[in-house]
Amino acid sequence: QILNDEMCEICEVWTAESLFPCRICHRVYHDGCLRRMGYLQKDSAVEVTETAHTETGWSCYYCDNLNLLLTEEEMYSLMETLRNCKIIPGVCLTLDDFLHYKHQVHKQQFERTMPEAQEEQAALQFNALDPDKKGHIEWQDFLSHESIQLLQKIRPQNALLRLLTPKERERARAAFLALDQDNDGFIGEGECRQARHTWFRKHQKEMLSCNVSISHVGPISEGSPASSRNGKSPEKILPATKQETRNIDWPGFLRENVAYILAARPNSAALHLKPLA
Ligand SMILES: [Zn+2]
Ligand SMILES: [Zn+2]
Repeated sequence: QILNDEMCEICEVWTAESLFPCRICHRVYHDGCLRRMGYLQKDSAVEVTETAHTETGWSCYYCDNLNLLLTEEEMYSLMETLRNCKIIPGVCLTLDDFLHYKHQVHKQQFERTMPEAQEEQAALQFNALDPDKKGHIEWQDFLSHESIQLLQKIRPQNALLRLLTPKERERARAAFLALDQDNDGFIGEGECRQARHTWFRKHQKEMLSCNVSISHVGPISEGSPASSRNGKSPEKILPATKQETRNIDWPGFLRENVAYILAARPNSAALHLKPLA
C-alpha cells in the first residue's frame, strides 16, 4: 500500500524498467541520472544497481546522510563541540582520536572522568564504525554517528518518531507482528532489544547472513555482528521464550527502536549506533 513515486526524482521522466527505489523514502531514480549528478562514485554505482531491488535495498542521497536530519542550530552545536575537541572536519579518526574525543565530551558535559565501562562501549562503537578493520573511521561515518547520538540526546522521543517514513514504520510493524506470535499485542523485552540489531541491512559479502527477510526477527546466525556480543549464545536471544514477561506493546516497541531504525539508514557498511549487548 506504500507507493513509490512514478517519476525519477532528478529528471522527472517516467521509464519504469530502469528506476531504482530508495528503501527509506518514496523517491525513485535512474542510475544514469544519479551518475550524471555525481551521486554515484566508484563502489556506490555497483551498490545501487545490485541492491536497490533486493532485501538489503539502497538509500538515496537524502536518506543516506543522517547529518541532514539536524536543524541548523543542532548542526552548529555539534560543530562547536567538535571544534572544542580539536576534531578537524573531513579527516579520518583513529581509535585514540575517537576515545580522546569521547573523554573530552564526557568531561565537558558531566565535569568528571568517563567511567571505564563507558570507554569500553566507546571502543565497541569504534569497531562498529570500522567494519573493515582499517584502524580508522571515515569522517562521514563519524559524522553520522555523532548526528544520531545528538538527536537521541536532545530531541524528545515523539520528535524522533515523526522522522520515520511510512516504509520504516511498515517494516517495524512487520517485525513486531512477527514477534507477537500469540497476537495479544505484546512482546517480550528481550525480543524488543533483539530487534535493534535487525534494522541494519548492510551490503557486504561477509555479512550476507544479515540479509534476512523483514518479517524474520529471529535468531542471529553465526558470523553476523550480533552473534559475537559478550559470548551470549544465540539460544538466549530466541524469540518467544515462555517465561519472559511480554509487556512491550507496539508504541513501546517503536519508541525503543526508533533511534536504531534511523541509524540504519546510511548505505555505509558501518554501524552508526551500535545496540548495547
Ligand atoms: Zn532520471
Ligand atoms: Zn530516500
